Amino acid sequence: MTILKVENLNKAFGGLQATNDVNFEMLTGELSGIIGPNGAGKSTFFNLLTGYYKVDSGRISFQGKDITNWSPHRISRLGIARAFQVSNIYPALTTYENVRQAILAQQKRTLNLFTPARRLAKKETQELLEVTGLSRHTDMISGTLSQGDKKRLELAIALGSKPELLFLDEPTAGMSGEETHETMDLVKQLNQEMDLTILFTEHDMSVVFGYAKRLTVLHQGSIIAEGSPEEVRKNETAQKVYLGEDL
Ligand code: ADP
Ligand code: MG
Repeated sequence: MTILKVENLNKAFGGLQATNDVNFEMLTGELSGIIGPNGAGKSTFFNLLTGYYKVDSGRISFQGKDITNWSPHRISRLGIARAFQVSNIYPALTTYENVRQAILAQQKRTLNLFTPARRLAKKETQELLEVTGLSRHTDMISGTLSQGDKKRLELAIALGSKPELLFLDEPTAGMSGEETHETMDLVKQLNQEMDLTILFTEHDMSVVFGYAKRLTVLHQGSIIAEGSPEEVRKNETAQKVYLGEDL
């Protein structure tokens, strides 16, 4: 089943074509990566998919529904979440409060006025903290968490909206090798156990090849190679873009 379909997508900034006639598809349950040098257009692509940038032309559909140029809020309500380079953590709140806030924001519940605020979404919040390995840090002020735990918290916040499709833009940026693998193991677990379709960007090639089942290579806004990690590794065009790096 196709969960995401992108057709002839274009976006320019002034004279710069940041997204150049991109065609892209994801099947439900996939764990895929987008790679490409700095400035290739990876973040722009994610911003288009989540409604943060308006497209110049082309079409984006999610589960068969045309969501092109929908607002980020509407796209999120439909089941698409993101954790991006720009953090969405409230640093002054505790880990628990951040995750609960994310769950409540999505529920838009018919609030029972007599439910004490602190009990709202308690069970779900605790479950998400457990899944993301943050239970130990429940009452810590988020701003004081380690870099790795902040990334876990961003994942927990993204999961709070109960997405079916999750975009992760450089989820391991700034992490040590060990933290990187812990985070990516968690991403893999979310994909397998929660049946979440996930698309991530990453610049560390060993991470990309170790975790993604499918890879797309972006270069100057265009897709220049696509396929299994093995296929991409052997692709001559991809090798040229990564001149000097071992693919
Ligand atoms: P990547 O994430 O692959 O490093 P980006 O999508 O951030 O690449 O950027 C692609 C190109 O688009 C870059 O040249 C960048 O400077 C440009 N760009 C991205 N966002 C904007 C913006 N809001 N305004 C102007 N130029 C932008
Ligand atoms: Mg980027």
